[in-house]
Formats: sequence, C-alpha cells, structure tokens
Amino acid sequence: MRKPFIAGNWKMNKSVTEAKELVSSLQKKVKDVENVEIGVCPTALALSEVKNLLADTNIKVGAQNIYWEDSGAFTGEISAEMLADINIDYIIIGHSERRQYFNESDQDVNRKVKSALAHQIKPIICVGETLTERKSQETENKVRFQVKADLAGLTADEVKKVVIAYEPIWAIGTGESATAEEANRVIGIIRDVVRDEYPQVADKVRIQYGGSVKPHNCIEIMKQPEIDGALVGGASLDAASFAEIVLKTTELY
Ligand code: PEP
Repeated sequence: MRKPFIAGNWKMNKSVTEAKELVSSLQKKVKDVENVEIGVCPTALALSEVKNLLADTNIKVGAQNIYWEDSGAFTGEISAEMLADINIDYIIIGHSERRQYFNESDQDVNRKVKSALAHQIKPIICVGETLTERKSQETENKVRFQVKADLAGLTADEVKKVVIAYEPIWAIGTGESATAEEANRVIGIIRDVVRDEYPQVADKVRIQYGGSVKPHNCIEIMKQPEIDGALVGGASLDAASFAEIVLKTTELY
C-alpha cells in the first residue's frame, strides 16, 4: 500500500520567526502520527532553521523551487545540491504559480526534476489544467502531456521516488475544489500515463490532490482509492487546520 503524504505549500508566506512558531506548534499536534507522511514547504529563507527544528521528528521539509544547475552565475537562484547539504527531503517542482508567473515550461520542470533526483531529493511535480482547458474538455490531454514531458528520460527507479500532485489550477486558492470523484478519475488517468512508460513502478508512485483542501473536505478526498494525499496551500498556514487534515487522514488508513 502507498503511504499517504500530506504536504503544506506555504508559498511566499511566513517570516523565519513565524515559520519556526508554526512548525513548533504543528509538531506538538502531529507527533504521534506514523501512518501518514507529513511535510512542510517553507520559503527558501526559512528552510535551514525549519529543518534544524524538525530534525528527528516525523515532519519532512521541502523547498518550493530550485534551478537545475548545481552552482554558477544564476543570480537569485538556489540549487538541489545546496538543499541536499541541509538535508532537505522534497522539492515542489512546476507549481502552477511558477508556470504562470515565471514562465516555467515542462522542459524546465524536467530539468529540475532530474537535478533534484541527482541529489537524492524527491520531487513533488505539479500538473493540472486551467478552467478554460477544463471547459473545453482538455483536462485529460493536458495532464497526459505534462506528465510525459515532466518525467521524460527518467529511469523506473527514479520515477518510483517521484510524487505527482494533481492540482487543477482553477481550484488553487479559490475555495473551489474538484469533486473527490473527479479528482480520483483524473489521478487514475495520471497513473495510467505513468503505467504506459513505467509499468513496473506505476503502482508505487504517490499521486496527491491539491486545490482548496481543507479540514471540512479532506476526508471525502482522501477516501478515494487513487488519491495518496494532498498538497495543501492556504490551510497549511495554520497549525490547527493542517494538523486536523493530517489527523483526519490517519483515521482512514
Ligand atoms: C497549492 O498552492 O498547491 C494549493 C493547493 O493551494 P490551496 O490549498 O490554497 O488551494
């Protein structure tokens, strides 16, 4: 069975001081959880301190982005090599906000995924359709294309370590979430795409849902057989809400 993974994407929120307060409070609430993997993804600035605070706990730490080169003249960027040095566990790659506001292409995503894996950091690859694409029945084509392009050239052993987050863009930060059944259906399609190329590991890859996951709707979503957890934005900024999502999920497994 795949272990569900609930990760919080804090985006550009929380100072270092606030980040430390948030994880200290969260850790007390979820310290006994074993059957659900938990992760937080603070800003790059807070990663080091948050990782130190969470060392030897059941909460993993992820970054929100990297550049694919290890070092060099790339002002403002950080690399997977640097994140590996402070034992970062995950990197969110290709979040729709990066694709939309920073013009990240699937080729960029693929390069970043390869760089993360080369440094033993697990990528959380985000895919999903816009509202226009959904309305014109393009959801399936869009996610098929993204998953293929984002995983291109990886070995089966590498794909096993990848987490995919299906995040319909129209559901992110809007309070609108896909119905649990619809999210389950699209995630099933994503798994089929992985299976086409990597039949031996497709059932091992964890595929999360992301898009307005809150304490009130998480059970419905997490009950779905294809959904292996959630990437949580807004609700992860509050220790009580995020802990409630984690604790409700533990009851299902
Ligand atoms: C996200 O940022 O990945 C996300 C899913 O945000 P929210 O939960 O706020 O919709």
